[in-house]
Amino acid sequence: MPEYNKDGHPAASSQRNKEILQSDIGLPASPLVNGVAGGVQYLKGRGAQYNPKNRFLKNETVKEHIEAIDDWIEPNTETEYLEENAKGIVNKVDSPDVGMSYSMNPYQGCEHGCTYCYARNVHEYWGYSAGLDFERKIIVKKNAPDLLRKFLMNPKWESVPISLSGNTDCYQPAEKKFGITRQLLEVCLEFNQPVGIITKNAGILRDKDLLAKMAEKHLVSILVSITSFDEELRRVMEPRTTTAKQRLRTIKDLSEAGVRMGVMLGPMIPGLNEHELQRIMKAAAENGATFSAYTFIRLNGAIKLIFHDWLYKNFPDRADKVWHLIESGHGGKVNDSRWGVRMRGEGNISQLVAQQYARYTQKYGLNAERWELDTTKFMRPGGQMKLF
Ligand code: SF4
Repeated sequence: MPEYNKDGHPAASSQRNKEILQSDIGLPASPLVNGVAGGVQYLKGRGAQYNPKNRFLKNETVKEHIEAIDDWIEPNTETEYLEENAKGIVNKVDSPDVGMSYSMNPYQGCEHGCTYCYARNVHEYWGYSAGLDFERKIIVKKNAPDLLRKFLMNPKWESVPISLSGNTDCYQPAEKKFGITRQLLEVCLEFNQPVGIITKNAGILRDKDLLAKMAEKHLVSILVSITSFDEELRRVMEPRTTTAKQRLRTIKDLSEAGVRMGVMLGPMIPGLNEHELQRIMKAAAENGATFSAYTFIRLNGAIKLIFHDWLYKNFPDRADKVWHLIESGHGGKVNDSRWGVRMRGEGNISQLVAQQYARYTQKYGLNAERWELDTTKFMRPGGQMKLF
């Protein structure tokens, strides 16, 4: 059993761990929490196990230390929904390697709580922590459908596909309560505005009627993200997502309804799920997926320590190995911000994943056909179709 320090981190037994824990990010160590995993207390149903300091905030609020209690106990609190009147809903995406030029996100933060989620860092811009706050304080843009309508009415908008879920999952649990994603889709259908969707939640099946109507006009394309068939891994790594089986059923049901369905293998993590790549691609193709995409894990910003903390608590037996493999997939680091290589990595293990991905893409007939969302049908109510 590995040793843990009083803050719940794996003891810095090696120089490498010391370097990681005292990384340049300067995040504090995690508090202890309830539940048990890997020999330390653990907050069940959440991915991150603590709230690292927001790098944009000068001051940090800390709870008063209770006399005679050695360790902090972080209560397993409910998710809070924070309703906002957003200023805008469609964002221009400047990154050249993400395959989208505009995105809209009805929710900020994501209760799914995937430990590796790159959107965690964005929560810091909203004044919250990338850790537990990201999963428990969800910003709800209630006026998003009105904003979208106004945006699409602007004569300067020349329709190009918009990615719904460019940052956070638009079918996360909040959607069941607020239904904003459905309203956005209704606006898109009214204008014949094409959208791409990516999700880890079978809740999208609620909107099968709408998606089927959009599919008839080539207005929607959906990626369902599947990372593992190992339920034990999913439960701790993506605690509030739906199971891989349900995600496969989502691909099947929607493809049978005529929707173009794909599978996203994201991210592939060496030593944890990369050995499942073929199985996932095969199962997705058998259930109706016709296209696919993948990413290799990278741990930028606050995610580096959130993931490290989570990894050593849940998989103490192989944490060192997994960490080294991630490093070797990024030329010795776990993070990389360079466009083009950041999502794929560089190094033996990432090349191996790339080769396997290429091989099985071909074997299972994924990405075989060129297919595009139709922007030519875009029309403002009472107006004319887009002219070319
Ligand atoms: S579902 Fe997507 S957005 Fe939500 S936590 Fe997981 S990776 Fe992040």
